[in-house]
Amino acid sequence: MSHNADLSKRARAALPGGVSHELRYREPHPIYITRASGAEKWEADGKRYIDFKMGSASQMLGHGHPDVVEAIRQQAGTAIFSADCHEAEIEWAEWVNRLVPSAERTRFCASGSEATMLAIRLGRAFSGKPGVLRMDGHYHGWHDHALKGAKPGSERPRSLGVPQAISDLITISATDPQAMESALQDDQIGTVIIEASGANYGSVPLASERLQALHDVARKAGVVLIFDEIITGFRWSPGGRQGRDGILPDLTTLAKIVTGGLPGGAVCGRAEIMEMMNNANTLEGLSPPVSHKGTFNASPLIAAGANAAMRHLSTGLPQQVADDMALRLREGIAALMVRHGIAGTVYGESSTCHMYFGAAPLTDLTPAQIRAVQPALVNGLRGGLLARGVDLMSHTSCVTSAAHTPALIDEALVAFDDTLTDLVRDGVIAA
Ligand code: PLP
Repeated sequence: MSHNADLSKRARAALPGGVSHELRYREPHPIYITRASGAEKWEADGKRYIDFKMGSASQMLGHGHPDVVEAIRQQAGTAIFSADCHEAEIEWAEWVNRLVPSAERTRFCASGSEATMLAIRLGRAFSGKPGVLRMDGHYHGWHDHALKGAKPGSERPRSLGVPQAISDLITISATDPQAMESALQDDQIGTVIIEASGANYGSVPLASERLQALHDVARKAGVVLIFDEIITGFRWSPGGRQGRDGILPDLTTLAKIVTGGLPGGAVCGRAEIMEMMNNANTLEGLSPPVSHKGTFNASPLIAAGANAAMRHLSTGLPQQVADDMALRLREGIAALMVRHGIAGTVYGESSTCHMYFGAAPLTDLTPAQIRAVQPALVNGLRGGLLARGVDLMSHTSCVTSAAHTPALIDEALVAFDDTLTDLVRDGVIAA
């Protein structure tokens, strides 16, 4: 049995499905990584991968950036965690408030899902309304308030155990200003949440004019507008998508890159809303009016790594490199598709790369059609690439980082070429 098969057998007896995140599940087994550096990672037996998952898009500077590692090392030698206030969390919040245009205050939490959960609570508290409008297929984490609508074209939360009473409070809209305007006629809706990239880090594109139009509808309706910038924050630009496009929400959720690639997340936004978490404020007999706790919020270890990362992210240079590498990858795959006679679209903003296999232009397709997973194709593509030492982030999508180089992209394109050759030969992809 291979090392991976061995570990997977052991894992399946210890962890549900052998994994700690359902998207890490793979048949016949996942890969097990022991070392990662730059844009590469290795298994125990030395097999090496060019990484286009990059810690689920968290490792924007590349794996193990020396300054981030050194900051964590130093902090670990000083104080790992005492659950007290400390200066590094102030510096960290100052970075976020300086870089993210709509941020006047920042509160840290322990994950992206916690960030969207908190932002939705703030939206409900500030608006005084329980209803939330969300966009079809946008992803906001795994908690009860985020599941309905996460699968495009479906009202059903993709999990048992979500109370109907909670799902009833969530309304799904297309990213269409008119649809949103009519949904907001429901005066029980006081909060709108939008994945700033478009669904699933932009696999369903969301043009800037469209985002601006949705923003304008929300403003007219007077609802609390949340941008989920957990992917786009510090990636689309040092100030995220809002920094690049100048479209500002009331609240922003952050995770992944905001921590320098360590576990955690944040909500930032308008002082008036954020100050509802201030213990010195009282509303309806509650101080603070909105409760938020969390043992490991803004732990010094993570703040140290984050601040080291911010010094680089704030320059805009890492984003420029990652964008250039994603463009090179997209152009390379598009050229391969043409050469193999495969009908499809390779697209993506900033440092993302998405592939759609099919003749129809994306603009003619619904989010559900764009994201329809064809198992043979997805498994064939990912499996073929993995066997050749290339790891994608999900389905037919991936990201780059500041550590990718033209040589790595070109090497990966050879693996794409060989994999597409196999898929066409086996009739998995029509050519
Ligand atoms: N929102 C978006 C846009 C995400 O991409 C993710 C994670 O991929 C989340 C929320 C949830 O973050 P986490 O996995 O840290 O809970």
